[in-house]
Formats: sequence, C-alpha cells, structure tokens
Amino acid sequence: MRYISTRHGSQGNPQPLGFEDIMLAGLARDGGLYLPSEWPQFSKAEIAGLKGLGYTELAFRVMRPFVGEAFDEATFRRLIGEAYASFETPEVAPLKPLGDSGLHLLELFHGPTLAFKDVALQLLGRMLDHTLTVRGQHATIVGATSGDTGSAAIEAVRDRKTIDIFMLFPKGRVSEVQRRQMTTVLAPNVHNIAVQGTFDDCQDLAKACFNDLAFRDRHALTAVNSINFARVMAQIVYYFWAALKLGAPERPVAFTVPSGNFGNVYAGYAARQMGLPISHFVVGANSNDILARFFESGTMTTSEVVPTFSPSMDIQISSNFERLLFDLYDRNGATLADAMTTFRSTGTLKVGANALAGVRQLFDAGRLDDAGTLAAIADCRRRFGETIDPHTAVGYAVAQQHRRDASIPMVVLATAHPAKFPDAVEKATGERPALPARLGDLLDRAERVDGLRNDVEALKAMIDERRAAATAPARTKVRT
Ligand SMILES: *Cc1c(COP(=O)(O)O)cnc(C)c1O
Repeated sequence: MRYISTRHGSQGNPQPLGFEDIMLAGLARDGGLYLPSEWPQFSKAEIAGLKGLGYTELAFRVMRPFVGEAFDEATFRRLIGEAYASFETPEVAPLKPLGDSGLHLLELFHGPTLAFKDVALQLLGRMLDHTLTVRGQHATIVGATSGDTGSAAIEAVRDRKTIDIFMLFPKGRVSEVQRRQMTTVLAPNVHNIAVQGTFDDCQDLAKACFNDLAFRDRHALTAVNSINFARVMAQIVYYFWAALKLGAPERPVAFTVPSGNFGNVYAGYAARQMGLPISHFVVGANSNDILARFFESGTMTTSEVVPTFSPSMDIQISSNFERLLFDLYDRNGATLADAMTTFRSTGTLKVGANALAGVRQLFDAGRLDDAGTLAAIADCRRRFGETIDPHTAVGYAVAQQHRRDASIPMVVLATAHPAKFPDAVEKATGERPALPARLGDLLDRAERVDGLRNDVEALKAMIDERRAAATAPARTKVRT
C-alpha cells in the first residue's frame, strides 16, 4: 500500500510513501493530508467471512492491507492485542440497541481516557514505539489540546523510551477531569504545559515549532492529531464491527457521527469505499455548524468559535474534511491545493452543483444547540434508561431527524463517557455520573504541570532543555 498527499502534484510529484513514513510524518510536506492511493477492496463474500470474529482479529483483518510490510503478521497482531487489552471490555466497542427504535449506540469510550480517541491512539502509540525501536530513533510529539486529544495521546505513549510528548493546553480553560487526566500522568517522558492563553494560542505555538524546520528535524517532531492517517485507519474497524453485527453484508446500515475535525466520520466513508454497505451518514454538529452549512449549501464559510457543552466539537475548520474534498475535486491535488489556499485567505470554499449533489446522496447533516443537547440527554435517559454525554447527545438527536428508511438500522457513535462531562449531564438529568472505578481516585492524585507564557521561544527552549537533560545521563553513565 502506497500513500499520496491530498495536494500531490501541487509541488512536483514526490514518490508515494509507505505506511511507516506517513505514520511518522503526520502531515505531508506540501501541507496536504496523506491517504492511500487506492482503497483496499473487500468483496461481499470477504465481508461475510468476517462475521463472528472478535474485535482484535477483525481489526487485524481490516487494517492488514493498510500497513503492508511495516509490521510482520505476528508483530501487528501483538500490537493490536496489547492496544485493546487496555479497554475495560473485551468487546472493545459494545453495541447497544435503544429499545426497538432501530437506533443503536456504539460505545467507543471504554478505553483508558473515556473518549473514542483511545481506540486509535492506543494502537498508534504502540506502532510508533515499535517502528522507532526498530529504527533506533527517538521522536518528539508536540501537540495542543482543548481536552480529549491530550489525555488520549499522553496515555498512549507514557513511559515509552522512544517518544517524548509535550502537550499544551490553555490554563484554566479545560475541565478539571480533562486536566487531571493529563497532569496526573507522572511518567518522565510526559510534559504537560499550561499556557497563559487560549486553545488557538496553544495551537499556534505547536504549529510554530513544526514550521521551524531546523527545530523540527533536531527533535524529529511528530503529530498525532487526527490528520495522522494511522488514526483514520484504526477507526475504520469499528464501522465494520457494528455493521457486521447488524446484518452486513446482506443488510445496509446507517451511521450518525458527532463531528468536529471530521476524522471519525471520514473513517466511516473509508469503510464504505472499501465495500461496506453503508446507506448514508448523518454528520452531527453543535452550534459550531460549519459542516452542516456546507452539506446544505455547498459553501464552506468560517465564523467565530462559540463554546458549547460539547467542547470537542467546538471547531470551525475541520482539518480532515480536506480528505473528502479530495474526492469532490476528482482527486486532483493541484486544484485542491489552490482551493485550500483560497479558503485560508478568504474563509470561503464552494464546490460545484454536481459535486454537491453527489455528496448529498451520502451525507445528511444536522445541528443541535446547548438547550437541545440537555433535552436530548434527558430524553434518552427517560425513554431508554441510557445516560449519554453531550457529544453523543448531538448524534442521538440529529439521527432521529435524518432517518431515511425506518427499516435500516441507525448506529449513533457514542464518543465519550458521560462522567467526562459531569456538569452538563447533571444539569440535564439531576444526577452526577460517577467516574468508572479505575479512575475513581483521579481527583486525589498528585499533578505535575509546567506553566508557560504564550511565547514560542520559551517553548522551544523548554523542549531543548528537557531533551538535553533526558539524553545527558545516558552519555555519562559509561562504566569505568
Ligand atoms: C474528538 C471528539 C469528537 C470529534 O471527533 P472528530 O474526529 O474530530 O470529528 C467528538 N466527540 C468527542 C467526545 C471527541 O473527543
């Protein structure tokens, strides 16, 4: 399997890369996002042959074509097994029917940090560590988080000798549970940094590190946010998992996905490109509804980000959307690169009528404000006895507005555990959801965090210093 950039052809025609290289790079050098040059195909008979497999074996079969020669079969099986052993249930992603409504919740939050990002990051951390160990290399992850990504990435790479992680978050602007899930990890390779600034400031700091090419090469900087194709790959698996349980390949299935960066729903699109019979997708948005407006009008226009009860969807520029646009631009990387440059400077991107008509056959979109979110949490609890988090609540509500065919099961992706967002859930239901037992003492654990002013030179100096300190003892530890 070879990978190309969504902007290939815009700066010459670089050689397609293998899986390890795109996993380590994250973002392509031309500014685009990597994806496979063609999708692996699963025939109806091959999909039928996957029925009844456990989650880890299914994961192996679905992902095998993507990794190619990067791992031998035994190693890849072991990495997958270890990644999903960290989940609370061997099912990894339990599928729960909501009465006889035809709606189903796919619970993706049983990993170590209680959000769906663990499904991909637990595996990515192990794949990175394996590849770096084999190559005798070290990499440095620099990332910015407004909440869920930070803890999932930290938990995925803690205690690894091959990786250091520097995670920036806006001081005083993440929830206490989210902050503690990061700062109570005391592993020596984990560096939590509370920045005096906003999430955007944090993201600008991280980007500035990547844009300093000498700095980037000196520390082998790596990105593990959802632009990394390895994360998309790992998320494809649970679309197969849910569809197989609901009668695929003989019966089609629909999915509703609460969306921010469009990574999760794009993984579903990829599953469909591979042959999985998915009838359509519903994209769920909160009041930050740029995606919903796009699917209605064919025009993408950015506006101000407003804070909501579903903070992981408080996003105006959905980075993964570029991968879908690549297909809407007939896989012409040069034309897409032009459109993206214009979008960055004007804040507007428009696709043609034909492209819009095509995409609307497959995608519906809906939005839900904060009042609707609380009402949806209460409604789900009252009708079905299930407590859902505010992100899942967006999906639950818009799924019901966009059932195209009552005979087709509708799967709503449950992206976070309700205890991760206890304030909103308590407001909606009158009851504060309890953290799972293994996280029960989170609020009593010791924290370690560094403060930093909003200054990229100060950040670079900190990273230089920490890396020098980490490597120095190893050099002087020579026996005499
Ligand atoms: C990250 C996140 C989302 C958004 O996922 P995307 O892949 O960015 O669309 C939704 N819900 C929760 C709980 C998240 O953590």
